Amino acid sequence: MPDIIQLLPDSIANQIAAGEVIQRPASVVKEMLENAIDAGADAIKLIIKDAGKTSIQVIDNGKGMSETDARMSFERHATSKIRNANDLFAIKTMGFRGEALASIAAIAHVEMITRQPSEDLGSRLIVEGSAITKQEPFQANPGTSITVKNLFYNVPARRKFLKSDPVELKHILDEFHRVVLAMPEVHFSLHHNGNEIYHLPKTNLKQRIIGVVGKHINDKLIPVNESIDDMSISGFIGKAEGAKKTAGEQYIFVNNRFIKSQYLNHAIRTAYEDLITKDMYPIFFLFIDMDPAKIDINVHPTKTEIKFEDERLMYNYLRVSLRHALGQYSLTPMIDFGTDTNFTRNLGQNMGDDRSIKQAYQQQPSSSGSGTQPSGSSSWQTPKSSKDWQDVYRGMLDINQPETEVHPDAKHIEQEAYHLGLDESSSIGASNAPMQLQNTYIVSKLKSALLLIDQQAAHERILYEIYLERLQNGELASQRELFPISIELSPAKASVLKNILDRINALGFDMSEFGHNSFVIHGTPVGLDGSTPIDQVVETLLDQYSQNIEVELSIEENLARSMAASSCVKRGRKLEKEEMINIIDQLFACKMPAKSPTGKKCFITIDGDELAARFK
Ligand code: ADP
Ligand code: MG
Repeated sequence: MPDIIQLLPDSIANQIAAGEVIQRPASVVKEMLENAIDAGADAIKLIIKDAGKTSIQVIDNGKGMSETDARMSFERHATSKIRNANDLFAIKTMGFRGEALASIAAIAHVEMITRQPSEDLGSRLIVEGSAITKQEPFQANPGTSITVKNLFYNVPARRKFLKSDPVELKHILDEFHRVVLAMPEVHFSLHHNGNEIYHLPKTNLKQRIIGVVGKHINDKLIPVNESIDDMSISGFIGKAEGAKKTAGEQYIFVNNRFIKSQYLNHAIRTAYEDLITKDMYPIFFLFIDMDPAKIDINVHPTKTEIKFEDERLMYNYLRVSLRHALGQYSLTPMIDFGTDTNFTRNLGQNMGDDRSIKQAYQQQPSSSGSGTQPSGSSSWQTPKSSKDWQDVYRGMLDINQPETEVHPDAKHIEQEAYHLGLDESSSIGASNAPMQLQNTYIVSKLKSALLLIDQQAAHERILYEIYLERLQNGELASQRELFPISIELSPAKASVLKNILDRINALGFDMSEFGHNSFVIHGTPVGLDGSTPIDQVVETLLDQYSQNIEVELSIEENLARSMAASSCVKRGRKLEKEEMINIIDQLFACKMPAKSPTGKKCFITIDGDELAARFK
């Protein structure tokens, strides 16, 4: 019998090997970006066409290759990154197998242009199906540019199984994100079909995360910084309230290499266990740095799997570090404050009598009516006389954008309202007194129509614009409380409040921390509806705020909305004539009077034609 075993030609061996390393355009992107980083580049440009199916180009300003190295780089197991078996246990580069370029060259048309910064001239190589078909000296910038065209041109089965452009592009973006997050000190850009999708200048990790994920993530991140011995964990994790319903931004890097690990994911989850529900996913950008000898990244050719020498240690270390980070940001109820009852008693003694501040507050409503300084929180209470009311109201008007420009939409709506015949005198005179329907709607007569206002939606709109303006312009409109008010919150709410305390004070509160989840309020925003106790306003404000975090509003926007919702006049409250007049006046002075901040209609009109039609 003749011998039948033969060595495969390199081109076929490479093609087979390529199947493992290069599954889709995104794999090419990953390998080439990693090579550029290993070459020490600090500016890397990725240019793709048709989700990488037509062409993928990576241009870097790294150390380039000599003429011989450029040829060698396409050989299988040709690498400059390790020399012997020991090096395998001290890997500091992204690549080391020497397989990527050989694999890519086996299944695509490749052009490489490369020049070492120390040389005047570079070289250009054309490679097709593992064969170098051309090499020539070439004028080039220092660094390397590799263009990969017609991926899988000679492996039709592979090419046929590529997914649609959007799917392949998504895979490319995933790889791109993993690399750019690990390298904030490198400038990256990404162009797809002629459009620049990403432009990421050199920066720090936090700004890079924002550059990749978007601005909305900015105030959802908690820094992590722990180290023991030769191991450290750094980066950012999401606040519990920033958790998402789908697994999104979840990144673990070990020695700057993105890895996937169910095990470590589990450790992270358990750190959040009492903070988020089972169906929510925390976000994290974590960087574990450790002795390369204690890990094995040689598990899989695409190198996203990793083996730790001591997995259990890693698990616990990660969990504890994150608990710590979460705790430092007081988002975790780590200590049970429920047993501490001394707090209010001490406070009372400080005041020189037996009453706690809380008790003082509880007695306050009776004192506010006794002719002493009027309290801000009573301003929406039924006024004693219209003069009182207007005094309070004047204060509000002053804050309410004296001569601010009116939004064009508002102008339109306003004009419409006037067109319908809102009294020429602009404010509704006493002769045109509005009336209240079902303690919910304000009914007013326009010249040729009826105006119906939803008091809650309208007041919410009015307050929202006032608060937003205050927050944006830094105006202070605070009214000192006669007696400081103390409130005690749940640890969770207290931590939310702590985080945004300065912003809340910008609304007009004068509130300070008093330890043990308690806060003292010395002043409240001008113009609060006194029918709701102040502690309730704050609690509702915090609830609203936490809820709104899901809709990804800016802090200002969120606070203005939450505060407006918590402090506005509610449906069902009886309004005095002056209060109704003021709501009408202020509503139509708003920039956007038509809808409440959450989109509820503030008013409707019924004109003569409509009435006539009803009487037919
Ligand atoms: P590995 O990265 O595992 O070493 P590759 O096949 O990806 O294997 O690359 C082979 C070799 O080619 C690298 O070791 C490196 O010396 C060289 N090389 C590849 N890309 C670049 C680049 N962009 N700049 C400089 N050298 C490069
Ligand atoms: Mg490589």
